[in-house]
Amino acid sequence: MRTPDASGRPGATASTDVLVVGAGLAGLHTATLLARRGHDVLLVERRTSLGHAIRTTGIFVRKTLDDFPLPQEHLGPPIRRVMLYPPGMRRPVGLVSARDEYRVGDMAPLYTAAAELAADAGVRMAMGTSYAGRQGGTFRLTGREGTTAVRARFVVGADGARSRVARDLALDRNRHVLVGAEEVFELPGTDEPPTFHCVLDPSLAPGYLAWVVNDGQHAHVGVAGYADRFPAGLRGALQRFSASAPGLAGVERPEAVERRGGPIPVGGMLRRVGCADGLLVGDAAGAVSPLTAGGLDPCLRLSEHAAAVLDEALRARNPGDVLTGYDGAALRARFRGRLMLRRGLAHVRTPAMATAAFTLLRTPLGQAAARRVLFGDKSFPTPEHGRPYAGPEPAARIRTGYGKP
Ligand SMILES: Cc1cc2nc3c(=O)[nH]c(=O)nc-3n(C[C@H](O)[C@H](O)[C@H](O)COP(=O)(O)OP(=O)(O)OC[C@H]3O[C@@H](n4cnc5c(N)ncnc54)[C@H](O)[C@@H]3O)c2cc1C
Repeated sequence: MRTPDASGRPGATASTDVLVVGAGLAGLHTATLLARRGHDVLLVERRTSLGHAIRTTGIFVRKTLDDFPLPQEHLGPPIRRVMLYPPGMRRPVGLVSARDEYRVGDMAPLYTAAAELAADAGVRMAMGTSYAGRQGGTFRLTGREGTTAVRARFVVGADGARSRVARDLALDRNRHVLVGAEEVFELPGTDEPPTFHCVLDPSLAPGYLAWVVNDGQHAHVGVAGYADRFPAGLRGALQRFSASAPGLAGVERPEAVERRGGPIPVGGMLRRVGCADGLLVGDAAGAVSPLTAGGLDPCLRLSEHAAAVLDEALRARNPGDVLTGYDGAALRARFRGRLMLRRGLAHVRTPAMATAAFTLLRTPLGQAAARRVLFGDKSFPTPEHGRPYAGPEPAARIRTGYGKP
């Protein structure tokens, strides 16, 4: 049996230490860390190019920017200003941080840079190749050249919110999911300082937010919410919001805009995310903040933990014991507060309720709470199990990126 190589053609190896399914940030980072530790890693991705069908706005928060040396050249200007709007979008509440809080990644080159790091580390990548299921001890892959099978000691489900790997390994699966969509376009230049505009209006974005991120270089105009609660569907909501989106008055929009979208798991970290045959990372593991729906910081942090656990399992006499220690329940407990706030947000069902919530936001107490959520130092909890990865030497780390400083 032969597995595909980076070009999608059958290669020479029938087996691998770790099969990673999905080349989003979680899969790329996990694969790179494992390969740097000397393991043989095959990373399969069903898309044919990492620059297409992107599923994220790409807002990186300060904690991620502090802890992970992402390639600076693929990050937009820092954002310190957030405007919060009630239904009707009049009398917004403005919050300005004394520090740089967010930067929006130019995701296509950022994913490409991450794939280059993976290749440099020795990861074998097969683009245009889908994981199609498990058959006994092997995993089926389908690509341009038909179906092949690969034998792997472990499989990593980095295949997003609706993970097929989770299903096949009988692990927990995301049940509480929002859907989001956005338009992205280049800005010819605006007078506005880089700003993150958030609109809390359940008639536009039921259970979440509508947003405009304008960092002076690109604008992202998006909505997200519960799929069954959009009166005119997700697309209709985006169209309606886009026509009156704040912060873009007088901005000339190009005819062609990039469209992005996808599911966002907000039910919190799943409990059972590992078993003797493998584990889940990123959205597949539910590693997304239930409140802010931010998943980029969690997927990088959980990937580090996953790589440490798998490294230990690959060297252990009883790998099953090591993998059962990859436990989502302990991490989930750290999300209790955010899960409660998510439930609160889900109950804001009418514009009148959102307007009432804004009354609170106009008080010093409300603004202090909003600042904590938007500008706080909290990140995805750093998992405690597993040997922490020291990473490459500092000089090499700056060159290669992504390793924790
Ligand atoms: C509209 C939107 C905006 C968002 N904005 C932000 C934001 O600004 N900041 C933030 O922190 N978070 C944001 N998120 C969340 C964040 O993007 C995700 O949590 C994060 O990107 C998850 O990364 P991942 O690698 O786990 O999954 P993904 O990036 O979804 O990668 C999964 C990969 O697996 C591949 N795949 C799936 N099935 C198979 C298969 N069977 N075989 C092979 N490959 C497969 C997919 O093609 C995909 O490439 C947003 C999400 C959405 C939907």
